[in-house]
Amino acid sequence: MKQQKIAILGAGPSGLAQLRAFEAARQAGVQNLPEVVCYEKQNDIGGMWNYTWRTGLDKNGEPVHGSMYRYLWSNGPKECLEFADYSFDEHFGQAIPSYPPRAVLKDYIMGRIDKAAIFKYIRFECPVRWVTYDESSKMFTVTVMNHKTGEQETNEFDYVVVATGHFSTPNMPYFEGLEQFPGRVLHAHDFRDALEYENQNVLLVGASYSAEDIGSQCFKYGAKSVTISYRSNPIGFDWPEGMAERPLLTHLEGDIGHFADGTSKQFDSIVMCTGYLFHFPFMPDELRLQTHNCLYPDNLYKGIFFQPNPKLIYLGMQDQYYTFNMFDAQAWYARDVILGQIALPEADARQQDMQTWLARHEQLSGCHDSIDFQASYIRDLLGPTDYPDFAVEEQGELFKQWLQDKEENIMAFREKSYTSTVTGTLATQLPAPWLAIKDDSLESFMSLDFIESNTLDKID
Ligand code: FAD
Ligand code: NAP
Ligand code: MG
Repeated sequence: MKQQKIAILGAGPSGLAQLRAFEAARQAGVQNLPEVVCYEKQNDIGGMWNYTWRTGLDKNGEPVHGSMYRYLWSNGPKECLEFADYSFDEHFGQAIPSYPPRAVLKDYIMGRIDKAAIFKYIRFECPVRWVTYDESSKMFTVTVMNHKTGEQETNEFDYVVVATGHFSTPNMPYFEGLEQFPGRVLHAHDFRDALEYENQNVLLVGASYSAEDIGSQCFKYGAKSVTISYRSNPIGFDWPEGMAERPLLTHLEGDIGHFADGTSKQFDSIVMCTGYLFHFPFMPDELRLQTHNCLYPDNLYKGIFFQPNPKLIYLGMQDQYYTFNMFDAQAWYARDVILGQIALPEADARQQDMQTWLARHEQLSGCHDSIDFQASYIRDLLGPTDYPDFAVEEQGELFKQWLQDKEENIMAFREKSYTSTVTGTLATQLPAPWLAIKDDSLESFMSLDFIESNTLDKID
């Protein structure tokens, strides 16, 4: 039998999960494995977790992928993304707090990657330019720009796994008067450093994670005031003095923002925290996933196989409570379908399965429901593969506790400690309030004197 060829587009957490899934099969002695090639636009692995000071275009003239900023800390408890086969204790050799800064979390995530085994599959600085599918040969043609050689390359594949992420291309709204606004206007994708907003009146448009966190960052690093403008619903936390929510911005007059409730306020800067577009400029329409940020994008059987052509696989396209372990569950399932260990049902049966999930998705009301939904989606994927079973539902309960902790104090929820579902270890505590810890480097964080949590504080 001819050896199959698989292209993985992107080496962020999702693409790496797919590479690890195949590598795990190789190490387990599975025969006749496909040839795998991973094309990555950046010059390193890690995807969104690679902090870059750049905005706009990278050194090769490609759109900068990163949307992360300095001082970004995990926004959910680390216990909700802990791997069953690689615990935080194993990686750090000590208990650490539940909400680490980006560099610390990245160190853990990357610590599990066997670089020697994985890097040989990855072609760095090779952005994918175009993908086509030929009905007669049943093969995909993938065209990439190899910036290292300056040459365009074309190869054929049996399967294409798209793992290029969906939090990188700004959804940028327009408001009347924006072109006359004298201060800086940018999208959250280009936000890099809260210190830039010290002593400023900052307007944030949007009412989700980016608005909540960029607002908190600006407050933490000395903004004069932070105003969050919502379109549908306010975020609704009990914000500290200096932070407030208002309904939607209607227009601007000079540096004055006007809001739907008739109020107005002077601003020095505006950050659009208005989410991201699903953007696959390398895909023709018939292969392109068209969706918005939600827990069950339409047209993806098991949340991954593109219904019109299931040899095209999309990883990590869901809105995310769960992240890394969900990507793993998806990647292991995709691998087993490719290897013929799981049979893909016919189109009608796939459609029916999707309809069942979509119907349930439509009925969701509130965050707890959504967490339970994503947990059962993951549970559904885990069954047939040999991915190590993990406490999906228990981690869901931790997410619910997280929501409550944010409700209690949005500026202090990162001081809470949770119990690992993998090792039973209770996280240690930060030695100072989160608001007071301003250096987010790995070295600085790991040199803090973490405080052992009182088991009476234990959350389970
Ligand atoms: P990405 O990480 O986006 O990786 C996609 C990869 O594809 C990138 O390496 C990119 O360079 C590459 N790529 C893109 N286009 C091409 C192309 N044409 N050709 C080749 N390669 C290409 N999750 C958490 O669990 N905890 C957090 O605290 C957290 N904070 C976040 C903060 C922000 C500001 C954002 C935007 C997201 C955050 N996330 C967080 C969610 C984050 O999306 C996931 O953790 C994770 O990075 C998603 O992995 P991915 O591989 O699907 O996508
Ligand atoms: P998002 O969750 O998709 O939310 C987009 C927000 O923009 C919604 O509130 C939406 O309002 C609003 N919006 C869209 N168009 C608008 C318009 N024209 N006018 C006004 N409001 C508009 O996107 P996100 O907040 O950028 O989050 C993306 C991801 O980044 C999440 O996975 C999150 O976890 C991650 N993140 C993590 C951290 C961290 O602390 N680690 C920080 C930031 C982001 P409606 O509700 O009205 O649609
Ligand atoms: Mg199983």
